[in-house]
Amino acid sequence: MRIKNLPAASIEFIAVGSELLTPHFQDTNSLFVAEKLQELGRELSFKTTVGDRLDDLKLAIKIARKRSWLIFICGGLGPTEDDRTRQAVAEVLGLKLVFRRDILEKIRKRFETRGLRMSPSNRRQAYVLEGSEVLENPHGTAPGLWLERRKQIFVLLPGPPPEFRPMVENLVIPKLKERYGQVQVLRSVIRVTGAGESLVEDLIKPVYRSLPERMQLITLAAPGDIQIRLSLPVRRKPQRDVAAFNRVKEKLLGLLGRLVYSTDGEPLEKVVGDLLRSSGKTLACAESCTGGLLAHRITSVPGSSDYFLESIVTYSNESKLRELGVSAELLRQKGAVSEEVAREMAEKVRTKAGADYGLSTTGIAGPGGGTETKPVGLVYTGLAFSGGTVVVKNMFSGNRERIKFQTTQKALDMLRLKLLEEIGQTEKK
Ligand code: ATP
Ligand code: MG
Repeated sequence: MRIKNLPAASIEFIAVGSELLTPHFQDTNSLFVAEKLQELGRELSFKTTVGDRLDDLKLAIKIARKRSWLIFICGGLGPTEDDRTRQAVAEVLGLKLVFRRDILEKIRKRFETRGLRMSPSNRRQAYVLEGSEVLENPHGTAPGLWLERRKQIFVLLPGPPPEFRPMVENLVIPKLKERYGQVQVLRSVIRVTGAGESLVEDLIKPVYRSLPERMQLITLAAPGDIQIRLSLPVRRKPQRDVAAFNRVKEKLLGLLGRLVYSTDGEPLEKVVGDLLRSSGKTLACAESCTGGLLAHRITSVPGSSDYFLESIVTYSNESKLRELGVSAELLRQKGAVSEEVAREMAEKVRTKAGADYGLSTTGIAGPGGGTETKPVGLVYTGLAFSGGTVVVKNMFSGNRERIKFQTTQKALDMLRLKLLEEIGQTEKK
């Protein structure tokens, strides 16, 4: 692969459209570009969202010109008065807009094949920036434009994602790849659960001190799930880069120990599923506050029927009694959200299903229903296995959705740790 040295500058994305500045629309096209650039080993340095006003648009382009070598401008190529991207680029760069009859004919044909008449305003779309190359748009009328000027590249693309995405994927990315090659990037996504963000940050602090200069370490923290994303673009001495990358990765894994559940970005349900399959064990669940989310996550993994037997959603006390045989006395005395009920739920479902493991969840997901002794976020997760049962009392924060997710994360993690422990014991024997 050919790798040319690029001007030392940035890649920028300009999303054009006043609707993108309202609470109703989001710029998702830049996310798509960022993902595709990653495949080339490159990344965006700047994103700008700008409304349809010509002066604002021109200013955004002027700023981008000062700092970026590759500039995507997306949207505002349509036929209406408020589509001013071509004009703005032309004015900023001092270029003419040239009328292209062949483009107009294509647009006309497109309308004709649909039995429609082209509106005179579509004529606007047949103007191209002088010196630019036309990028075909098979899914719409507005063609894209590729303009190279003094070592800078401007890529103008239509806004609607069904038009934008295939053009990026099939035209722009291959062109960039052909021109500038692909930088190989070493990557790893370490996923952690069972500790909060600040504890994880504390644990991994020593790594920051010895982080190679070009290596990126990004921590993405969500409740119950932290990702540590490592990346290092490979340069002239690949072996040295690989060694440096692995050194950092191993150090992180050492510092985080069993908090790490995956090193290649796989979700917890997949990791747990693989452990169950490889040890030939089965699982059944009894869910209260998670309402089936645990089963949903487990069954999101293809092939989960190898180890997953069932999950019973026993939401009411009546159901816990009838479906699982949790004792009425216990429910009355301790309440459904209690260590004892979580224990019984896990044990009963394990026995009932004839599974090796039983997992249970019961808690208060809110926003209502909390009391002083049993506040919103109080959740018990239980795990029954052949040698006994463990129940953990958790206090989760966040909204209902977050509490439900953290509950499933905790339950799955209890099972993961148990499986690792048992695998470890078998290996020792
Ligand atoms: P059209 O020919 O449809 O007018 P256009 O190139 O002028 O195309 P816009 O008018 O700016 O594009 O946007 C059309 C639609 O595409 C918008 O209503 C919006 O829903 C969507 N869109 C525009 N920009 C983005 C973006 N950055 N991310 C996601 N969707 C976008
Ligand atoms: Mg438009």
